[in-house]
Amino acid sequence: MPMNDASQSDVIAADMMPADVSTFTAIRRGLARRCPRCGEGKVLSGYLAREPECKSCQLDLTPISADDGPAWATLLVVGHVVAPLLILFGRDERIPIWLAILALSAIMLVGVWWCLPRAKGLFIALIWSTGATGEDVSPQVLKQDSDSHNRPDGA
Ligand SMILES: [Zn+2]
Repeated sequence: MPMNDASQSDVIAADMMPADVSTFTAIRRGLARRCPRCGEGKVLSGYLAREPECKSCQLDLTPISADDGPAWATLLVVGHVVAPLLILFGRDERIPIWLAILALSAIMLVGVWWCLPRAKGLFIALIWSTGATGEDVSPQVLKQDSDSHNRPDGA
C-alpha cells in the first residue's frame, strides 16, 4: 500500500530521532564507524560504502548522505599534518628531495586512508544526531492569507 507524503515523513522523522543518545556519544560511535543510535552495527560496508540500515537496531541510514563532508574533514586534518612537514622538509638541505617527496606522499596516503572512513562515520553520526538530512521531515505549511495570497505588496 503506497504511503502518502505525511506518513512517509513521519517514518523518516521517527527513524531520525536521536532518542536518548547525546551528540557526543553519537560522534564517538561515528568515529568508530558504528551506528550512532545503538553503537553496535556498522555504518560502512567495505571501505566507504554506507550500509542501507544498521543490522543491529535497523536504523534506516538511506536518508543520510555525507556527500563531500568526509573528504573536506580528511583534507583539513591531513593537510594540517602534511603542510608543516612540507615546509620543514623543503627548508632542510640535508634531506634529499626524492626522500621528502616519498615521505610526504606516504604520510599523506596513510593519513587519508585512516581518516576518510572515520570522517564518513562522523558525518553520518552528526547528520543523524542533528536530523540535517536535507529531507523535509517536518514540512512547514505556508500560511495562506486568502486576501493577499502571500504577495508582499498585499495585492
Ligand atoms: Zn544501530
